[in-house]
Parts: sequence; structure tokens; C-alpha cells
Amino acid sequence: MPVPFIDLKRFEDGFLDNWNDKVANLSEKASFIGGDDVEELEEALAIWTNNKFAVTCANGTDAIQIALRALDVGKDDIVLVPNMTFWATFEAIVNVGATPVTVDSSLNDAGIDFDSFIVAIDKVKPKAAVIAHLYGWGSARLDKIREYCINNNVLLVEDGAQCFGALYKEKSIYSNALISTTSFYPAKVLGGAGDGGAVFTSDSNLAKRARQLTNHGRTSHYGYGLVGWNSRLDSLQAAYLNIAIKHLPARIKSRQEAISYYRKHLIETDIQQMIPPSDYKENGYCNVGLVKDLKLKSVIETKLKTSEIGFGNIYPGAMSDQECSKQFMHSHVGGNEAQKICDTVINLPVFPYITDEELSIVVDTVKIACEEL
Ligand SMILES: *Cc1c(COP(=O)(O)O)cnc(C)c1O
Repeated sequence: MPVPFIDLKRFEDGFLDNWNDKVANLSEKASFIGGDDVEELEEALAIWTNNKFAVTCANGTDAIQIALRALDVGKDDIVLVPNMTFWATFEAIVNVGATPVTVDSSLNDAGIDFDSFIVAIDKVKPKAAVIAHLYGWGSARLDKIREYCINNNVLLVEDGAQCFGALYKEKSIYSNALISTTSFYPAKVLGGAGDGGAVFTSDSNLAKRARQLTNHGRTSHYGYGLVGWNSRLDSLQAAYLNIAIKHLPARIKSRQEAISYYRKHLIETDIQQMIPPSDYKENGYCNVGLVKDLKLKSVIETKLKTSEIGFGNIYPGAMSDQECSKQFMHSHVGGNEAQKICDTVINLPVFPYITDEELSIVVDTVKIACEEL
């Protein structure tokens, strides 16, 4: 039986009826921009993330750009970025006119390597840093990173596209961030019916600037205080997310169970299962295994392909190794642990309501591949 890497069609009972009613209702009223649904969503997001303000926007990449621009990071500013993350984290820095410095990642938690981070701050004196909380958790030393940035006047943006619903020290991972972001891309933990994103902060000035940037820098309908752009989240998208967020606890629980299943059943294989640092409760975004023996990795991948089981490699290449990144980069600080993750990582299927049968098929297939070598 084939098992997809991600299946977004496993809606809860009644979900599609609610959504279709909402589409009919908003369509009849031709209510497509702004309105009650956007407000309702922003209130729910602020509560979920334990921030005073949530500003929705068009996508998670824009959210990072909005956060950087809200902090007045732009032309000629140096900004640190982890060497292993999604390309959008790097891209956002370049798009606001700033210059990225890549910093090595940690093999333990996949976040930015703290020792290299300190060296980088000392060496290049960045105005800001964008860190990314990958795989459904964050860095073991997140508090230390935040504190170090405050003490050294480095403006910290936290790209939380993958960690919605994750807890750090029993609170939302986004609490206590200066400014953080998320993505509502359909495959994320809180996924929409298209693109969407949000910026979270408890600083009213940053929230005000972020809001302004998402809407052409408007001060009134035809008055402009900033050059922003159009990055509004539309009403239909907000309406979908308002329905989805009610099911989020159940979806997260199902993801966590799938991940626990893999950890439990793959413990005796040569796929080393990555686990979140001790202060976290992960949101179950994805399964992460590292296969140091590259021949074995290729055997496992071939076996999964021929068995029609989806898998991922998040991510197959570091930022500093991309074809065009060098021309935008100032420098790289630290070693090459990021590349080690990229070379060895394999992600098995995880999505809400994946069945026990599907999980056992994946595990059995992986085990057979391990024995084949
Ligand atoms: C998905 C993702 C983004 C980008 O979000 P979009 O909504 O697709 O623009 C940024 N950073 C990370 C780490 C992501 O996983």
C-alpha cells in the first residue's frame, strides 16, 4: 500500500461543510479583504502564541521581511542566518537589502550553533539575526540566544514557520521573542487553503509598523508613512484558518503520536532519530532521522521509492552552498555541521490522522531496507 509523505485531505468530520458554508457566506457578501475573520484569527493567534499582537500577512516569507523592516533592518546592514534552513530565511534578508552572514548549525538540535553565533557577533557586528526553529522545536539554548542578543544589541527575528503549537519551557515557543513569524502554507502545522503568514510581537511600536508595512505603509487610505507593499491575508484564508485552528490540538496530537511511533520502532536501526531538546514539547511537524552510512541511506530511499512511500530530505543543501548565495553573502562563520545534516537527513511520512497501518508499513519497509545492506 502506498503511503504519501503528506496527505492534506484527511479532514475532520464536518470540516468541509463548515468551510463550504463560510465560502458561500463570504461570497454572497463579497467580503474578501479584511473584516471579522481576519480580526478573529489575529486574536486567536495572539492567544496561541502568548504575544500581545499578531499581524497576519500574505505568506511566511513576507512575514520575515516585515519583521526585518519593522526593526528597520535594510541596506548595508549585516544579518546572521543559520546555514541550514529553508531558502526563504536567507532570501528575506537579501530582499530587504541587507547582507547575510551564514552561521553553522548544530547537529544536536538543528538550530543555529550557539558557539559559532557568539563568534559571528563578535566578528561581524551584525545589526540583526534571523534564526529558524526547524522540525517542530527550537534550539536547546534559545533563552541564551535571546539574552545574548539583548546584551549585544543584536535585533533577533525568529522564523517560526515550522513551530506553530510547539512549547518551550511549557509556554508557546513564540513567547518572549522580540519578534517572530510563522507560515500558513498548507503543509505547515497550521496550514491554510493557500498562502498566508503572520508576525508576532508584544511590542506595540513593532506591531504598528508591521501592520503598516503589510498594507502599503498606509496611514490613511491615500496617505502613506512608509513604503511597504501589499501583503494582506485575505478574508477567505482567515476564515479557513479560523476553522482549522479549532482542530489544531487534535492534529498536533496525531502528529506527535506518529513521531513517537517512529522513534519507538526505529530505535534499533541505523537511522538515528533526532529528538527535541529537553525544554521542548514538539508540535510533530516532521520526523527527522540521520543516516550516517550514505550507502545505507541510498538503499533506504530506493526501497521507499519502489514501495511508493513518500519521504523528504529537509534540507538537502546548506545556504552557503546554493548556486547564487555567494554573491549576496558577506561571509560564513563556523564549521560544516549544517552540511552533515543536509547529507544525512531523511524524513518519513507524518501528517494528521496518518493511520497505524500506514505507520507500520513505513517502519517495516525501512527495516527491510536496513537488513538488505
Ligand atoms: C515554509 C517556511 C518559510 C516560508 O513560508 P512561506 O509561507 O512558504 O513563504 C520560511 N521559513 C521556514 C523555515 C519555512 O519552513
